[in-house]
Amino acid sequence: MTNTDNNSTFIQIKGVSKWFGAFQALKDINLNVRKGEKIVICGPSGSGKSTMIRCINHLEAIHKGSIVVDGTSLSDSSSAIDAVRREVGMVFQSFNLFPHRTVLENCTLAPMRVRGMTKRQAEENAREYLERVRVLEQAKKYPSQLSGGQQQRVAIARALCMEPKIMLFDEPTSALDPEMVKEVLDTMIGLVRDGMTMMCVTHEMGFARQVADRVVFMADGAVLEEAPPEEFFRNPKHPRAQAFLGEIL
Ligand code: ADP
Ligand code: MG
Repeated sequence: MTNTDNNSTFIQIKGVSKWFGAFQALKDINLNVRKGEKIVICGPSGSGKSTMIRCINHLEAIHKGSIVVDGTSLSDSSSAIDAVRREVGMVFQSFNLFPHRTVLENCTLAPMRVRGMTKRQAEENAREYLERVRVLEQAKKYPSQLSGGQQQRVAIARALCMEPKIMLFDEPTSALDPEMVKEVLDTMIGLVRDGMTMMCVTHEMGFARQVADRVVFMADGAVLEEAPPEEFFRNPKHPRAQAFLGEIL
């Protein structure tokens, strides 16, 4: 299936439902993301935010509907899944770095294996991105020797080393000590300035106000509201969104 609805649509999520056993975690999700757009997803715990993000690069399978990423339909064919994963960078709450590899190795393994870069090319590439997230001086260390904020910036650099067309973030700052949140958000704001397409699950509402084109509010597996941040924060329409904002702001 090709992307004929809208040339600038980069991700098209259409009628997506997903179950874990008898429990429906996603209920008829419809969401389009344009190239260059920044989407912040928020909502109470257990509302399906992580599940939805994980479906985009097929870390979770969907049971109904369709997901198209840059013209490639995420059917179950492994070549389609590989094609999509090459374009999608993902950063999780828990940094998920390889503990027995140095920072530099964390950033060179996938480009060598998946992109076929030589070691020299991969290291040059990795140094560029480590510099960009300002952790290049840590290149020879192991993840456990870094602070949480540094580890998360390495995780961002590692994703960037694959030169993704979109970055997906799932609560990238919620495992960090408060004093480290800003350095990671600033790194993400840098990506936004460079025009990266981004979907980010976060409850950092200052970040949402500053960078999001749209805020998507989820509860109970459904998208209940979608609005530009100034509108969403000033005048949330759905009672669940009003209650949620009342709790976190
Ligand atoms: P959120 O990220 O919004 O907190 P999740 O997407 O992690 O929510 O989870 C949505 C719902 O799906 C929750 O009720 C959760 O318990 C359930 N869920 C998530 N992953 C699994 C799984 N692997 N098996 C069973 N239930 C799951
Ligand atoms: Mg989650």
